[in-house]
Amino acid sequence: MHQLLEDKHGRKASYMRVSVTDRCNLRCSYCAGEGCNFIPHAEILRYEEILDLIGMAVDLGVEKIRFTGGEPFVRKGFADFMVDAAVRFPTVDLCVTTNATLIGDHVARLADAGIKRVNISLDTMDPAKFEHITGHDLFHAVRGNIDRCLDAGMKVKVNAVAMRGFNNDELPAFIDFARDNAVDMRFIEFMPIGLDTGWDDSTVWKAEDILNEAKTLADLTPFDNGSGKQNGPARMFSIADGLGRLGLISPYTNHFCGTCNRLRLTSDGNLRTCLFSDKVYRLRSALRHPKLGIKRVERIIRLASRHKPMGHELLERMPAGQGVCRTRMASIGG
Ligand code: SAM
Repeated sequence: MHQLLEDKHGRKASYMRVSVTDRCNLRCSYCAGEGCNFIPHAEILRYEEILDLIGMAVDLGVEKIRFTGGEPFVRKGFADFMVDAAVRFPTVDLCVTTNATLIGDHVARLADAGIKRVNISLDTMDPAKFEHITGHDLFHAVRGNIDRCLDAGMKVKVNAVAMRGFNNDELPAFIDFARDNAVDMRFIEFMPIGLDTGWDDSTVWKAEDILNEAKTLADLTPFDNGSGKQNGPARMFSIADGLGRLGLISPYTNHFCGTCNRLRLTSDGNLRTCLFSDKVYRLRSALRHPKLGIKRVERIIRLASRHKPMGHELLERMPAGQGVCRTRMASIGG
């Protein structure tokens, strides 16, 4: 039995987000940006390499893997890869974060393979705004694919980045959506990740403001899942007579660094231990080295985990008007 990953603050790493590509079919200005330089194919981890790294992480105590991107379904063979991962790691909690534009044809097979949960990003309920922010007229495709996931029995979380001046006028529509559909509709505060994303303090639609306004629009009750554990970093509320729930995630106004259990593997094989830091640990070169291989990778993962920072300290030192790190979310993986 390997010794589990624990950092200097006593936090155990049990959750890894794995980005399979830095490419995306949407162009959300706050996330991908125009004219991004994509990572050359040779530097992207092959699926077998990703499976080996997941195997290593699982040996070190990781229990949950979330695949992300860029947009994971843009990468050729991603659905097959996810099914392979489900077969190889039957005890691991596997899920995916997607913009849901391309998932439609794969839903049934993923559900059959035991993929029970999907997080879908959708920042607006207005088709014209969707096209404005993403550059593509695909709102109805996403909406249809949410229904397909629900019909296949998946648990669906819909995540909207809460941005003042963009979607703060749409709270009634989001609440109606959560009332009429069995989804967790979650708002995540716009974070200062990456440069030139349009972020500044005034663009953050703060969780507390969302909650106060939501209470005037619906009868909300704090949701207790009965396990005594929180729903991760989200504060959840059930809606009277509603099928779905409302959730708030406040990484900016109320950080949850003290309980952060996450590691992030980027598509080019870099390990990141904190979303708010540019520090990366290079796993790919060790993995591909004819002599070093997976044993060296284990050492690097241990070292990285040990030195996982308290991200809020980095946020507090962030220079005014800038992002806390240089890299945008599309290439980190969200
Ligand atoms: N393409 C997939 C998707 O749309 O979910 C996965 C990758 S995307 C980078 C993951 C999530 O990060 C999306 O929900 C996106 O809206 C969110 N995101 C990107 N930049 C963000 C920011 N600055 N603050 C908060 N969330 C952000």
